[in-house]
Amino acid sequence: LLSDRILLSLISDPAVLTRLQTAKGWLFILITAVLLYILISRYLALLHRSERALSESEEKFISLAESTASAIFICSGTFLYVNPAMRLLTGFSREELLQRNLYDLATPEFKSSARKCGEGYLADDRSPARYEFKITTKGGEERWIDFTVSRIAYKGVPSIIGTAFDVTDRKRTEEALWETTRTLQSFIQASPLALVVLDPEGRVKLWNPAAERIFGWSAREVLDKPYPLIPKEKQEEFRSQEDSVLQGQVITGMEAPRRKKDGSLIGASISTAPVYGAGGTVTGTMLILEDISARKHAEAALRDSEEQYRIVAETAQDAIITIDENDTIMLVNKAAERIFGYTREELLGKPVTMLMPEPMRERHAAAVKKHIETGKRSISWVAVGLPGLHKSGKEIFLEISYGESIKEGKYYFIGIIRDVTLRKEAEESLKESEKKYRDLFEESKDAVYISTPQGEFLDINPAGVELFGFSSKEEILSADLGRDIYVNPQEREAFKQIIDRDGFVKDFEVLMRRMDGERLNILITGAAVRNEKGEVTVYRGFMRDVTNQRKLEQQLLQSQKMEATGKLAGGIAHDFNNILTAIISYGSLLQMTLPRDNPARSHAEQILTLADRAANLTQSLLAFSRKQIMNPKPVDMNEIIRRVQKLLSRLIGEDITLETSLSDEDVTAMADSGQIEQVLMNLATNARDAMPEGGSLILRTDLITMDKDFLRRYGYGSPGHYVRISVSDTGSGMNEAIMKRIFDPFFTTKEVGKGTGLGLSIVYGIVKQHNGYINVYSEPGKGTTFRIYLPLYRVQAGGPEEIPEEAPAPRGTETVLLAEDEEPVRTTTGTVLRQFGYTVIEAVDGEDALRKYGEHRDEIDLLLLDVIMPKKNGKEVYSEIKGVRPDIRVLFSSGYTSDIMHRKGILEAGLPFLSKPYTPGDLLLKIREVLQK
Ligand code: ADP
Ligand code: MG
Repeated sequence: LLSDRILLSLISDPAVLTRLQTAKGWLFILITAVLLYILISRYLALLHRSERALSESEEKFISLAESTASAIFICSGTFLYVNPAMRLLTGFSREELLQRNLYDLATPEFKSSARKCGEGYLADDRSPARYEFKITTKGGEERWIDFTVSRIAYKGVPSIIGTAFDVTDRKRTEEALWETTRTLQSFIQASPLALVVLDPEGRVKLWNPAAERIFGWSAREVLDKPYPLIPKEKQEEFRSQEDSVLQGQVITGMEAPRRKKDGSLIGASISTAPVYGAGGTVTGTMLILEDISARKHAEAALRDSEEQYRIVAETAQDAIITIDENDTIMLVNKAAERIFGYTREELLGKPVTMLMPEPMRERHAAAVKKHIETGKRSISWVAVGLPGLHKSGKEIFLEISYGESIKEGKYYFIGIIRDVTLRKEAEESLKESEKKYRDLFEESKDAVYISTPQGEFLDINPAGVELFGFSSKEEILSADLGRDIYVNPQEREAFKQIIDRDGFVKDFEVLMRRMDGERLNILITGAAVRNEKGEVTVYRGFMRDVTNQRKLEQQLLQSQKMEATGKLAGGIAHDFNNILTAIISYGSLLQMTLPRDNPARSHAEQILTLADRAANLTQSLLAFSRKQIMNPKPVDMNEIIRRVQKLLSRLIGEDITLETSLSDEDVTAMADSGQIEQVLMNLATNARDAMPEGGSLILRTDLITMDKDFLRRYGYGSPGHYVRISVSDTGSGMNEAIMKRIFDPFFTTKEVGKGTGLGLSIVYGIVKQHNGYINVYSEPGKGTTFRIYLPLYRVQAGGPEEIPEEAPAPRGTETVLLAEDEEPVRTTTGTVLRQFGYTVIEAVDGEDALRKYGEHRDEIDLLLLDVIMPKKNGKEVYSEIKGVRPDIRVLFSSGYTSDIMHRKGILEAGLPFLSKPYTPGDLLLKIREVLQK
């Protein structure tokens, strides 16, 4: 080997080579060639020797590899060598493996990493390395393999030689262990229970989040520190427990107080067990702690509330009944016994349907079934009214609410049942009485109202709506009392003052107004209603319409006044008539006896004219006192007006125009046309006096029907058809005060000498005598209208009677017994009769008349008897004579009118009668009438 080196160094040394060249050519080359040969052959021999040593070691390796149980391989690109164990491990045959490389065996997930490792390893010069990855065996099984590899040159090629161990089982065990640890860890972390591990010295080794949460210490604060939870006084006790645990004892569910970080104690349920290390030695204790303070609390509360519920149930006034799904009564309270009349024993275990009336049972069953099936309530939590059945069989009214609870999958229903029978009955009777009062309210003929102090109606009954002429209740409720209803707002103020002060008013009279403007006299009786504060909130009460009553009262007053003055006037007129009758008779006699050329004759005429006027006056008085003789006939009022039109025009003068507006209809009434003319004259006279500056006077006729409405409105009249005569003027008019008195006799506003105050009294008297009515409407400055209503005369076929023309005074030859106490009347009457052919026997009183009759019984044809006479009156005289001579003719006369006579029972109706004063003509006519009957 040394020579080789020398050779090599010689050859390779440039100096040597140069020397060789310079020494002499060919020798040098020869020597060099010999040297080279020696060198090469020696080298080749050397090479041969080492090759032989190498194949020897290869053989040794292969025989080892072929027999070992460890898998061995050589690979570079593909496997170059695999031993039988490798074939067993992979499942592939030698040939198959020689076509694959190591990475081909790796499972897909490891393929690239395995390649990288392998290639990287080959490229770098590295010491042996270990790899673990999964391969897929020929059988498709995945196995974890542990490879140990190193680099070699195999047959001159850089290769990897390695061993492979199947570590699948170890891997699996590892994985399972890892899994277990992880799970355990999450248990520890998530546990609601505090988990603590202590080492045998009592230092904390584990402290989970629940422990942190419950006790307030963080793991960092307590790890490796002494266990902090034991209160000082419990340390001893704890240590001995701890010792016994370390001996292997297990404690469970011990309840003891434990300390929190803030120093407070909480109740804990504690379980303790030893922790075993490898080899079964105890390496510490484990504690499981549960905070039971809340549970303790809840348990106590539950105990309390159960007790409370029991008391509530037993003392409740409502029945509480629990039933199960099969309607069986499970629980009842005292109130249930009372309400349904059964004892507890009678109820428990029985079907609840026994407490329901027949028709309810099916409904109940359906509702329960539906509830159980769908969980849907058929009645709500809110109480519903349902009928129940008492033990006595009586139906009772209940209000039921219920709740359900589910225990062990079964429904229980708890019903709370209130007996509302009494309330229901009370409601019913309240409803009834409310209806009663409502009816009373609705049907009352008086207005019943509720109003506010501000002046609006809150409620008013139909009578009230009608009274005020509203068309609906709504309308009147929106009216303003002060403005729309009261005529004088002060009256409302006065009303309020009294009712606010006294709390009530009785028959407080006010003037109100209908919708149509008509005035109403209203009596209010009512009370003020106050709230707790004592303020008046509403008024309520009655309103009675006394308008008619007031009108009637007025009229009664008026007619009483008239009656009284009438009597007075009538009495005077009666006496006066006797005197006038004498004056007229004497005057007539005088006139008849005096020759035409005698100047005294004109005096006599004067006497007669004046007497005539005096008679007219007494006539007026009598007319007013309704004692005037009436001669009623069917008269067309239009006709009369046409007749007096001219007369009236003259009466009222040129400054006043007379207008007439006469009805086209038949306006005939039973009337004394003379008297009606008188009425028109009097009214026209007054109108003229009221229009000194001129104006117009309007006469109007029409037909009118007095119906209920009319009577209610005006407060007088009686139903029927009437002819209405209206006399209007455009004069001064009158105020209320005057209007009230105008019909009074002798009431006048005119200066002495101008007015007598009798004009309207006469009109009134005449209208009354015609069974008519008169009213007046007037306002100062706006003129006046008088309206006269006379009962309509329905013309029978044939039309009105003709008024007979006056004939000359008839004469006679009969004998008349004249009984008259007034000497002047007797004498003048006797004189007149004798002048006209009669024989007259005079008597001075009743008895005298009878005596004279006795003396001249056969001669007497007619009795002319004054009704009022001393000793025996005319009627008595007549009766006695009639007793002996039934066919005796008679004519009564008196200063009183015949109707007074009739009314007083002095004279029977139908007997011939002549009222004083009478003219000779009247007398003679009447006598003929009686005698010729
Ligand atoms: P006299 O006309 O004599 O005064 P009356 O009885 O006729 O008496 O009338 C009584 C009063 O009635 C009159 O004084 C007058 O004040 C009033 N009076 C009657 N008619 C009218 C009228 N048409 N206009 C105004 N006032 C009247
Ligand atoms: Mg007059």
